[in-house]
Amino acid sequence: MENNNYSTFRSLSFLMFSYKLSCYKISRFLIFSKGVTMKLLVEPRFDLYVDIITARAKSEENVIQLQWGELAAKPPEEIVEFFLEGYRKGKIRYTAPQGDIELREAIRDKVRKKNRINVDVDNIIVTVGGTAAINFVFRIIAGDGGYIIIQDPSWFGYTGIANYVGARTMRILEIKYGYEEFKKAYEEVRAKGGELRGIVLNYPANPTGYVFDTEIMREAIDFAEDYDILIISDEAYEDYVFEGEHTSIGSIRGINNVLSVFTISKTYAFTGLRIGYAVGPEEIINAMATAQVHTYISPPAINQYVAMRILRENLDRPFVEENLKLLRKNLKIVRDFVYENSWEMVEPKGGIYAFIRLPGIKSQNFALKLLEEEKVAIAPGVDFGEKWTDWIRITIAKSEEEIVEGLSRIKKLYARWIKPPCTC
Ligand code: PMP
Repeated sequence: MENNNYSTFRSLSFLMFSYKLSCYKISRFLIFSKGVTMKLLVEPRFDLYVDIITARAKSEENVIQLQWGELAAKPPEEIVEFFLEGYRKGKIRYTAPQGDIELREAIRDKVRKKNRINVDVDNIIVTVGGTAAINFVFRIIAGDGGYIIIQDPSWFGYTGIANYVGARTMRILEIKYGYEEFKKAYEEVRAKGGELRGIVLNYPANPTGYVFDTEIMREAIDFAEDYDILIISDEAYEDYVFEGEHTSIGSIRGINNVLSVFTISKTYAFTGLRIGYAVGPEEIINAMATAQVHTYISPPAINQYVAMRILRENLDRPFVEENLKLLRKNLKIVRDFVYENSWEMVEPKGGIYAFIRLPGIKSQNFALKLLEEEKVAIAPGVDFGEKWTDWIRITIAKSEEEIVEGLSRIKKLYARWIKPPCTC
């Protein structure tokens, strides 16, 4: 009898518990399905068409993906061993906020030799990709609404980061960069009651492949010294220069007013490693380390170890040469195709993209239709600045077949776009 009572009690308890759980789930559903009503200072959405296109492209099959800045090549094989080695060596803890010292030493040696920038480990910070370095420095120098000059067209990351950290951007056509234009911008910003704090020089540039000559770099340094401005030298594509060698601005007159940003992502086709680094004045590096420690403490230790081994083993050669060969070949295909069809493009001096004009399109609509009807994903020009509405960016770091097929499908849609089928 007692046993019976006990089992009835247990069944009742279970029923009560299930009932309460359901009520809890329903009430949570009701609460959350109403949506958050509080004011959010960062909108929970991407505002780039390329993100929408990427999300759709990834959920569909057989899409030729020319929209994203990633090299098709696989990173060098040796890297697999570096991960295991890192784990065995106990690289499983936080590191110093500036980054692991062994990696910073390897970076010091690399930038001294390859970039001819004379720095020491205190001038170096390792970050989660070049993106985090740009984020931290924008916040540190201009997070109170200060202005930063960016190229027009330019990588959408700069405006996205500036919006997020509370900085403002001002665009100057990259072909117009020079002392007088910087001064004009400085005065324009002053007239608005603002302050100019930084100038971005991205070379080879995303999306145009533009490379600044050393004369312009000298003018930028002169201006930065005269007006106490920081040059943010984004050298993410340092290894992909089609003619001659890459020259780092920091090699010209030191790093007093220069913060140079580099990344493992592009050189080694390894965007997923998420290791970048910046070299610059010690106070700025220390402020960036403060930002970093309060964001994620330190970049992943094991990935830092792998980056150190990659740099020490000089894995960029012959890997980069192979990639450059493919880029040059694909660029020729794109160039011939563009001119045959009387389109227009910026002649890239480096980088991994082709920036092409298709007169008469509205790039975001064209890109969405291209994905829908021809299964090709591209980045619409408008993401790189509102002036570039009839431009598109494609990556040329893909296989030759993908480039040829992608271009032919773009041509098909463009033909329909400018000459809609007759409805008579
Ligand atoms: N700078 C430029 C110009 C870029 O195009 C990118 C990525 N596409 C980055 C910086 C950042 O790359 P990561 O964070 O992967 O180092």
